[in-house]
This record gives sequence, C-alpha cells and structure tokens, in this order.
Amino acid sequence: MPLVPVLLLALAASPEADQHRLDAPLPPRPSALTSDTPTAARELGTPTTLFVNFDGVELGSCTPSNSKRNCHWYNTEKPFPPFSGTTQTKVSVLQAMRRDAADYGIRITGQRPPDSEDYTMVIYGGTEAEYGALGSAPPGDCLDQLPNQIAFAHVDGELNDWINGGATTALHEAAHSWGLDHIETEHAIMFPTGNNEPTAFLGECSRVVEDVALTPGEASCPDLNTELCGDPNAQQARATLEHLFGGPYVDVTPPTIELSEPHDGQYFQAPAEFEVVLDIRDDLHPQVYDAAFWLGDDPKPESKPFVEDHFSVTQLPIGTWEFHVEMVDEAGHSARLDFTIEVGEDPPPEPESEGGCAVGAGRARGVSGLGSLVVLLLGLVARRRRPR
Ligand SMILES: [Zn+2]
Repeated sequence: MPLVPVLLLALAASPEADQHRLDAPLPPRPSALTSDTPTAARELGTPTTLFVNFDGVELGSCTPSNSKRNCHWYNTEKPFPPFSGTTQTKVSVLQAMRRDAADYGIRITGQRPPDSEDYTMVIYGGTEAEYGALGSAPPGDCLDQLPNQIAFAHVDGELNDWINGGATTALHEAAHSWGLDHIETEHAIMFPTGNNEPTAFLGECSRVVEDVALTPGEASCPDLNTELCGDPNAQQARATLEHLFGGPYVDVTPPTIELSEPHDGQYFQAPAEFEVVLDIRDDLHPQVYDAAFWLGDDPKPESKPFVEDHFSVTQLPIGTWEFHVEMVDEAGHSARLDFTIEVGEDPPPEPESEGGCAVGAGRARGVSGLGSLVVLLLGLVARRRRPR
C-alpha cells in the first residue's frame, strides 16, 4: 500500500476526527400526555435564553417538553447525573457556544433562569454509549413556537473533555428545538454528524437532508426557507437565527457575590484551615472572571483568571482577618464581597442546637479545590505573621 493513503487512514481513525452521529432516534410522541402549562409562542426577533444544565436532573413526563417543569416525553426512564467534567471544561464549552452564537439574541448560561423567563434547556449529561448518539432534541418546531423545550447533549463519559464537540452538540440540539434541520454542508453546526473539531452556523443556503447518508429531505420551516433562500428545502442558519432572536445579546448585568461558607464573623482555632465557598450569580455564569483576593488594608493585588466558586485558606494565624474579594465579569462589570474571620487560640465553643446535639461551629473543612488564588492568600499571610 502506498504511504500517503495509510497516513490518511490513520488520521481518519483518530478519535478526535471520527464522525459521531449527532441524534439518537426518538420514540413516537405520545398523544395521551398533554401540557397543562401552555406558554406563549415566540415573538419573532426577540432574544432567548439557552440554559445548559450541567447539574443533573430527573425528568417527569409531559408533552411538549418543558424546561421549567423538568419534564419530557422521552428520556424519563432514569435520572441524568451531574456532568463529570471539570469546571474549566464547562466554562470552555459555554465560551465556545457563546462565540458561535455571538451574533444573535441568545443568552447562554449555566445557571437556571427564573420561572418568569422562557428558556430552552440543554441537559448536558449521559454518554454517547448509553443513548446511542451525541444528543437528541424534539424537532420540527418551526419559528420556536414552543420556547421552553428540552434538548440533550450526551457528551459525558469518555468525551467529557470535549470542548468544540460539546459546544457543537449543545447548539445543534438546541437549534433543532428552535426548528432548524440537518443540512448537507460539512463543518456546519447542523450537519448530521460531528466530532471535536470546531464548527459554525452556516451563513449560506444549504440543502436540508433527512439522514446521515445526506438524503435530501423536507424542511420543517419551508416558508421561512423560501423567504431566505428562495427554496423551501434550503436552510440558511445564520439568517434564521437572526430572524428568530434578533441581534447580539449584550451583557449589561453586573455579577453578585455572596458568602456561602464560612459565615461572616465565624471563629476558628489557630492555625485556621477552611474553604471559602462563594455564591456567584451572573447572567453569563459560569465564565472566566478576573478575581482579586486580599486581606485587611493591603493594596489590592493584580487580578487573576478565576473559574471556580471556592478557594481554600490554610495556616491562618491568630487575629481578626478582613477578607476582600473582587470579581470582574467578561463584560467588565465588577462585584465585591467583604467578610471577617476571627482566629484565636481556643477551640470554638460547642453551641447547643435545638435538638440538644452539639454542632462544632468551627469544624475544619477538607482542603480541596486549591486554586492559584490560595497561593496569593498564603503569600499575604506569610508576609504578615501578625495582624495589625
Ligand atoms: Zn441533529
């Protein structure tokens, strides 16, 4: 065999480049189940929210599917566990999705929106092996007349470090729930197979296909296709998304930070070791924040990228310590949190709870999730052996 074809075969066989089927076949839609919460249809050209649920969920039964009620007409047999990938992977997948959808009114978040807001939910969980494809979605909703549907990205398991492939799958399935169909053009988000290579929504008209063999098919949205492409069975994804959701989503919301653990003013025995857990909220959470952590009257240090919601403090000596946290989101909006920790020689008092059993208020937490910021704090602590 000549050398070049062998090399090509080797490339084609690499797991990154392998083509994976995007959609699992769906069971027939049940007629017995009905939705008791009809929602208003989308007003064309108004923004939407896409909630990527990495947190795991158990779905009840309903049709059509409903993101606010966590119910669907399939995939209700067993719960979806939380996505096993890292926080950094989740943030990178969301960033890749936001880049692909940057020109349209699509807010992409990993934090569940309030009930007052309509949102598409992509459940990011389960594996390709379990579900038979990278994802699935309820198709055929031309013009997103059901704005609260649920789609699936099964990119957990051995694909749980995929970034481009995760973003492609989540957007591909969300777009099915908005009425977009498969097209015949490779490297486009709506191509029926995919891998971990980057893709984009196609800016030209492409033939709608009905299977992975690229057999020409009938479009869900023939009138819109005729309007945008002059052909009922040719789809232009970029123009379609702008038609549905309007222009770019603009972040004008500053983040908020609250202290989950420990509580403000909490007492620890020296040398104190504890984990600070933050409740960070933002319209585009999680993301890469620029964060600064410092103590007392020290000058604010240079900000560092921060994607977690916690950091560990170790070896904090006796004193009253004022902690300062500042986080700036990717749009430049900032939030600040200040709290105080008391460290003394004695063990913390054992308060009597209502049930009569003692709870240690100063229980030391395991030191986990150590980030680069801990080093910053430790540097400060080491430099200031004695609090002022
Ligand atoms: Zn598909």
